Amino acid sequence: MKSTTQPFRSLSPAVMRASTVVFNSLADFARRKERQPDGYSYGITGTPTARELEHRIAELEGGAHCVVTPSGQSALMTTVMGFVRGGDHLLISAACYGALKTFAQKWLANFNVEVELYAPAIGVEIEKRIRPNTRMICMESPGTVTMEMPDVPAVVAAAKRHNVMTMMDNTWASPLGFKPLEHGVDFSIEAATKFFGGHSDLLVGSISMNNSDYYTVLRETQSILGQQTSPDDCFLVMRGLETLKVRYAAQSVSTLRVAEYLEKHPLVEKVLFPALPSDAGHAIWKRDFSSSGCLFSLILKDAPEKAFNGFFDTLKHFAIGASWGGVHSLVAYYPAPLQANRPFPLTDRPVIRISIGLEDAGLLLDDLNAALEAFGRARSEQG
Ligand SMILES: *Cc1c(COP(=O)(O)O)cnc(C)c1O
Repeated sequence: MKSTTQPFRSLSPAVMRASTVVFNSLADFARRKERQPDGYSYGITGTPTARELEHRIAELEGGAHCVVTPSGQSALMTTVMGFVRGGDHLLISAACYGALKTFAQKWLANFNVEVELYAPAIGVEIEKRIRPNTRMICMESPGTVTMEMPDVPAVVAAAKRHNVMTMMDNTWASPLGFKPLEHGVDFSIEAATKFFGGHSDLLVGSISMNNSDYYTVLRETQSILGQQTSPDDCFLVMRGLETLKVRYAAQSVSTLRVAEYLEKHPLVEKVLFPALPSDAGHAIWKRDFSSSGCLFSLILKDAPEKAFNGFFDTLKHFAIGASWGGVHSLVAYYPAPLQANRPFPLTDRPVIRISIGLEDAGLLLDDLNAALEAFGRARSEQG
């Protein structure tokens, strides 16, 4: 094949793969660690493809730095592992992402970290929970599945008075709806798996921040924990980001329509969605957030567990599955015991979580209507 000297330019970022990074001289090789936190010395610390994604996410978050990780969960865990040590006290919302709570309670607690869960809709009262050895407060707004709204600025203000670090899982709103760093949160975490990727086909996480020292610590933590993010997945997230705004806008409109409809349905007890004026967290959402995304939860009228099979198995346009934020609508089921046994429970009833995709909203409403009819039939049959 003839080689060409013509320049090649593409609109698409390059996918660059590497375990080995090569050096020009022995002196250069010997100094390779000095290239961190931004440079390239071995595949584990990242490739130009990962750096490009980090740059784009930092820009979206209004942050100076970003570290990408192989999943949203790894981003949460890496942030905690970077700074929390034995003897420290760690505060986590009872409505934080489940795997973060499990990681803290099953692993960190065994490393002598004092793990304490706090009431998810907390505000300034967090101050009473802060101890001399409190290192970090983990927030999520709204809470996973149950959608409680903490008062993030109040929590941050209390944390700053006591020199405690704060991190927030911002996946629900994405930086299009809320920018944690602008509210003084130290670390903004996204499961890029959700809205950023947008197509339910990858796992990536991100940690964004302003503090350069924190960035250096997290780059080292990411690499020491052996967490490299595939350049192909970084590329797919960048492709997803190209359409994030339009997907987000369209999905938000449909979601609000579906949530408003369901709220009026006689078989629906409660829609958990802070964008609705009836929601307990509405005032905080309205004050701090600029949009409401594609995810909400539902508590149906009391019914035997079997009636829920009628609901789920009738759906044609919604797939049953975990995760959310993609172009396909999804439903997931969180059984009653899971809710009732959580500290600071919101409900002792099953919760249905709904993620609205890009399908026609009318079709989705028809689908939910049919599912609720089946639920109602099963409910009355079982008395
Ligand atoms: C999905 C999710 C995560 C975890 O992301 P993964 O990439 O699946 O590990 C973390 N936080 C929230 C709020 C999520 O919805």
